[in-house]
Amino acid sequence: MPIPGHIDPVPVARAFAPRADGRVDLLGLSKDDLRMALGTSQLEPKQAKLRAKQLWHWIYNRGVADFALMTDISKAMRPWLEQRFVISRPEVVETQVSTDGTRKWLLRSDANDAQGTQDYEMVFIPDADRGTLCVSSQIGCTLNCRFCHTGTMRLVRNLTPAEIVGQVMLARDALGEWPSQPEGRMLTNIVMMGMGEPLYNFDSVRDALRIVMDGDGLGLSRRRITLSTSGVVPMIKRAGEEIGVNLAVSLHAVTNEVRDEIVPLNRKYGIHELLQACADYPGANNARRITFEYVMLRDKNDSDAEAHELVRLIREYRLPAKVNLIPFNPWPGAPYECSTPERVRAFSNIVFEAGISAPVRTPRGRDIDAACGQLKTAAEKKSRAELDREAATAAV
Ligand code: SF4
Repeated sequence: MPIPGHIDPVPVARAFAPRADGRVDLLGLSKDDLRMALGTSQLEPKQAKLRAKQLWHWIYNRGVADFALMTDISKAMRPWLEQRFVISRPEVVETQVSTDGTRKWLLRSDANDAQGTQDYEMVFIPDADRGTLCVSSQIGCTLNCRFCHTGTMRLVRNLTPAEIVGQVMLARDALGEWPSQPEGRMLTNIVMMGMGEPLYNFDSVRDALRIVMDGDGLGLSRRRITLSTSGVVPMIKRAGEEIGVNLAVSLHAVTNEVRDEIVPLNRKYGIHELLQACADYPGANNARRITFEYVMLRDKNDSDAEAHELVRLIREYRLPAKVNLIPFNPWPGAPYECSTPERVRAFSNIVFEAGISAPVRTPRGRDIDAACGQLKTAAEKKSRAELDREAATAAV
């Protein structure tokens, strides 16, 4: 089976393009591009620089999307901006709130999209000491991880920087967290762990996260952002150098044989290559550990021997690591079952006793189906088994 790589053509919506109404969306533009966008609209360079600074502050520090409210921009200038530019937000199709406080938003891409409108999701998970926004990087995913609902969906396209930053802006809107203050806010952390493989949409994810981290705007520290990859080895070093956020890796198995099945990308970049790339990840140290995600699948990857092998691998590669054990959240027709609670505990204990943190992640938002990797409306969901059944029926 061919495994798509990051050089495979993936449709990307153009970020710096006028919308159907001729206006340019300023959301997601870098500071330089924002200045250039103003410059190409015949503003003097000095003026463009000043206005870009003001706009940046209004957009990312105050969360203002309406030029009329930008009080330090002259009244005459505001309609001029309005005619030429817009500050977008993703369209919200539906919002769901779980009994445990988890919130899920179903978002819709622009109606002018060449592929037609498409839906993607983001999830906010509040905890006692933090609030984490799980952000999508693609609509659908090419990687077909066997335990993941998103993997059963066809990739539609990469999200643009505006659509990625837009998720953070929207969450801040919904949580009432403007202006941007680091203290006392609910949204404290971001994980690039929603739909899609972020390292297959590297440029947009990098550009969006740079905006999210910019101290004049959203101002989220890189230590509070985690990028989760299924193991796109050639891009891991670049991610460390050019983005510099925390790294999480969907490991899920300790042998190539099992990982080839669960995470098919492993057939392209095997476990040892992946762990070496993690060992070389710029900025990883004992204070900034790499998280290894490990979904607990009954009789597939959950034995004592596999827990010991995980410890051995972490030691062999001298990885500053923590392990996140994720009880599998099965869906109808899913090819796996969740390990028993006793098995999960035993696995966790073995890793803990070796001095490696291995907490079991509490499932969140189950009543709204918000678990990671299951980010799509129930109506649109199709399990792999369902797809296989359909394919088999069609072939008859
Ligand atoms: S786990 Fe991530 S990379 Fe794998 S199929 Fe799901 S969304 Fe894609």
